[in-house]
Amino acid sequence: MAIERTLSIIKPDATENDNVGGILQLIEKSGLRIVAMRRMHLTKAQAGGFYEVHKERPFFGELVDFMTRSPVVVSVLEGEDAVAKYREVMGATDPKKAADGTIRKLFAKDIGENSVHGSDSLENAKREIAFFFAEADLL
Ligand code: ATP
Ligand code: MG
Repeated sequence: MAIERTLSIIKPDATENDNVGGILQLIEKSGLRIVAMRRMHLTKAQAGGFYEVHKERPFFGELVDFMTRSPVVVSVLEGEDAVAKYREVMGATDPKKAADGTIRKLFAKDIGENSVHGSDSLENAKREIAFFFAEADLL
Protein backbone atom coordinates (compact mmCIF):
# COMPACT_ATOMS: atom_id res chain seq x y z
CA MET A 1 0.00 0.00 0.00
CA ALA A 2 1.06 3.53 -0.67
CA ILE A 3 0.28 6.97 0.74
CA GLU A 4 -2.40 8.45 -1.53
CA ARG A 5 -4.57 11.56 -1.70
CA THR A 6 -8.28 11.59 -2.51
CA LEU A 7 -10.92 14.30 -2.90
CA SER A 8 -13.90 14.49 -0.54
CA ILE A 9 -16.99 16.65 -0.95
CA ILE A 10 -19.41 17.03 1.95
CA LYS A 11 -22.60 17.60 -0.03
CA PRO A 12 -25.43 20.17 0.48
CA ASP A 13 -27.74 17.83 2.47
CA ALA A 14 -24.96 17.44 5.06
CA THR A 15 -24.08 21.14 5.34
CA GLU A 16 -27.82 22.00 5.62
CA ASN A 17 -28.22 19.50 8.48
CA ASP A 18 -25.03 20.58 10.31
CA ASN A 19 -23.41 17.19 9.85
CA VAL A 20 -20.02 18.57 8.75
CA GLY A 21 -18.35 18.05 12.13
CA GLY A 22 -19.74 14.52 12.52
CA ILE A 23 -18.51 13.54 9.06
CA LEU A 24 -15.03 15.05 9.56
CA GLN A 25 -14.76 13.16 12.85
CA LEU A 26 -15.47 9.83 11.10
CA ILE A 27 -12.88 10.70 8.46
CA GLU A 28 -10.19 11.44 11.06
CA LYS A 29 -11.09 8.38 13.17
CA SER A 30 -10.51 6.21 10.07
CA GLY A 31 -6.87 7.32 9.97
CA LEU A 32 -7.22 9.71 7.03
CA ARG A 33 -5.74 13.21 7.50
CA ILE A 34 -7.39 16.39 6.15
CA VAL A 35 -4.55 18.19 4.34
CA ALA A 36 -6.61 20.94 2.64
CA MET A 37 -10.21 22.11 3.08
CA ARG A 38 -12.60 24.78 1.81
CA ARG A 39 -16.31 25.60 2.13
CA MET A 40 -17.86 26.97 -1.08
CA HIS A 41 -21.14 27.34 -2.96
CA LEU A 42 -20.75 25.61 -6.35
CA THR A 43 -22.06 27.25 -9.51
CA LYS A 44 -24.03 25.13 -12.01
CA ALA A 45 -21.01 25.26 -14.31
CA GLN A 46 -18.69 23.96 -11.58
CA ALA A 47 -21.06 21.16 -10.51
CA GLY A 48 -21.72 20.16 -14.13
CA GLY A 49 -18.01 20.19 -14.93
CA PHE A 50 -17.12 18.16 -11.86
CA TYR A 51 -19.74 15.48 -12.63
CA GLU A 52 -19.17 15.63 -16.41
CA VAL A 53 -18.77 11.81 -16.59
CA HIS A 54 -22.45 11.53 -15.59
CA LYS A 55 -23.83 14.07 -18.10
CA GLU A 56 -25.70 11.43 -20.13
CA ARG A 57 -27.28 9.85 -17.04
CA PRO A 58 -31.00 10.51 -16.40
CA PHE A 59 -30.29 11.99 -12.97
CA PHE A 60 -27.67 14.54 -14.17
CA GLY A 61 -29.97 17.61 -13.96
CA GLU A 62 -31.17 16.59 -10.53
CA LEU A 63 -27.56 16.03 -9.40
CA VAL A 64 -26.45 19.50 -10.56
CA ASP A 65 -29.49 21.14 -8.89
CA PHE A 66 -28.76 19.29 -5.66
CA MET A 67 -25.02 20.04 -5.61
CA THR A 68 -25.69 23.78 -6.09
CA ARG A 69 -28.56 24.05 -3.58
CA SER A 70 -26.36 24.96 -0.58
CA PRO A 71 -22.64 25.19 0.21
CA VAL A 72 -20.37 22.14 0.15
CA VAL A 73 -17.10 21.44 1.99
CA VAL A 74 -14.35 20.14 -0.29
CA SER A 75 -11.24 18.59 1.19
CA VAL A 76 -8.16 16.59 0.29
CA LEU A 77 -7.62 13.47 2.42
CA GLU A 78 -4.26 11.75 2.75
CA GLY A 79 -3.26 8.35 4.06
CA GLU A 80 -2.49 4.70 3.32
CA ASP A 81 -4.66 3.54 0.42
CA ALA A 82 -6.72 6.76 0.79
CA VAL A 83 -8.92 6.33 -2.32
CA ALA A 84 -10.26 2.89 -1.36
CA LYS A 85 -10.26 3.62 2.35
CA TYR A 86 -12.45 6.72 1.99
CA ARG A 87 -14.91 4.81 -0.26
CA GLU A 88 -15.18 2.32 2.61
CA VAL A 89 -15.73 5.06 5.21
CA MET A 90 -18.44 6.63 2.96
CA GLY A 91 -20.40 3.39 2.42
CA ALA A 92 -22.52 2.40 -0.60
CA THR A 93 -23.99 5.11 -2.90
CA ASP A 94 -27.49 4.10 -1.73
CA PRO A 95 -27.61 4.57 2.07
CA LYS A 96 -30.11 1.70 2.33
CA LYS A 97 -27.26 -0.57 1.17
CA ALA A 98 -24.51 1.12 3.21
CA ALA A 99 -22.80 -0.81 6.02
CA ASP A 100 -23.32 0.13 9.67
CA GLY A 101 -21.03 2.88 10.91
CA THR A 102 -20.43 4.40 7.45
CA ILE A 103 -21.05 8.09 6.74
CA ARG A 104 -23.90 7.38 4.33
CA LYS A 105 -25.58 4.91 6.71
CA LEU A 106 -25.42 7.46 9.52
CA PHE A 107 -26.22 10.69 7.66
CA ALA A 108 -27.56 10.21 4.10
CA LYS A 109 -31.21 10.51 3.08
CA ASP A 110 -31.29 8.57 -0.21
CA ILE A 111 -29.27 7.62 -3.31
CA GLY A 112 -29.32 11.23 -4.58
CA GLU A 113 -28.81 13.15 -1.33
CA ASN A 114 -26.06 10.93 -0.02
CA SER A 115 -23.97 13.38 2.05
CA VAL A 116 -20.51 12.77 0.58
CA HIS A 117 -18.48 12.27 -2.57
CA GLY A 118 -15.14 10.46 -2.77
CA SER A 119 -12.89 9.91 -5.78
CA ASP A 120 -13.25 6.42 -7.28
CA SER A 121 -9.68 5.96 -8.58
CA LEU A 122 -6.23 7.46 -8.08
CA GLU A 123 -6.37 8.94 -11.57
CA ASN A 124 -9.75 10.62 -10.91
CA ALA A 125 -8.50 11.77 -7.50
CA LYS A 126 -5.67 13.71 -9.19
CA ARG A 127 -8.11 15.35 -11.63
CA GLU A 128 -10.66 16.16 -8.91
CA ILE A 129 -8.05 17.60 -6.49
CA ALA A 130 -6.75 19.85 -9.29
CA PHE A 131 -10.34 20.93 -10.01
CA PHE A 132 -10.60 22.59 -6.57
CA PHE A 133 -7.09 23.18 -5.22
CA ALA A 134 -3.94 24.87 -6.45
CA GLU A 135 -0.49 23.33 -5.91
CA ALA A 136 0.17 26.05 -3.32
CA ASP A 137 -2.80 24.85 -1.20
CA LEU A 138 -1.25 21.40 -0.93
CA LEU A 139 2.29 21.94 0.33
P1 ATP B 1 -19.93 10.05 -5.75
O1 ATP B 1 -19.38 10.08 -7.15
O2 ATP B 1 -20.80 11.27 -5.43
O3 ATP B 1 -18.87 9.79 -4.72
P2 ATP B 1 -20.71 7.34 -6.11
O4 ATP B 1 -19.38 7.19 -6.77
O5 ATP B 1 -21.03 6.45 -4.94
O6 ATP B 1 -20.92 8.83 -5.61
P3 ATP B 1 -21.87 7.62 -8.73
O7 ATP B 1 -22.42 6.49 -9.48
O8 ATP B 1 -20.55 8.20 -9.12
O9 ATP B 1 -21.88 7.23 -7.18
O10 ATP B 1 -22.98 8.77 -8.77
C1 ATP B 1 -22.64 10.14 -8.50
C2 ATP B 1 -23.72 10.77 -7.67
O11 ATP B 1 -24.89 10.91 -8.46
C3 ATP B 1 -24.19 9.95 -6.46
O12 ATP B 1 -23.38 10.10 -5.33
C4 ATP B 1 -25.55 10.54 -6.22
O13 ATP B 1 -25.48 11.80 -5.54
C5 ATP B 1 -26.04 10.77 -7.65
N1 ATP B 1 -26.81 9.60 -8.11
C6 ATP B 1 -26.32 8.40 -8.47
N2 ATP B 1 -27.29 7.56 -8.83
C7 ATP B 1 -28.45 8.27 -8.72
C8 ATP B 1 -29.82 7.97 -8.94
N3 ATP B 1 -30.22 6.78 -9.37
N4 ATP B 1 -30.73 8.95 -8.69
C9 ATP B 1 -30.35 10.17 -8.25
N5 ATP B 1 -29.06 10.52 -8.03
C10 ATP B 1 -28.13 9.58 -8.24
MG1 MG C 1 -18.65 8.49 -8.28
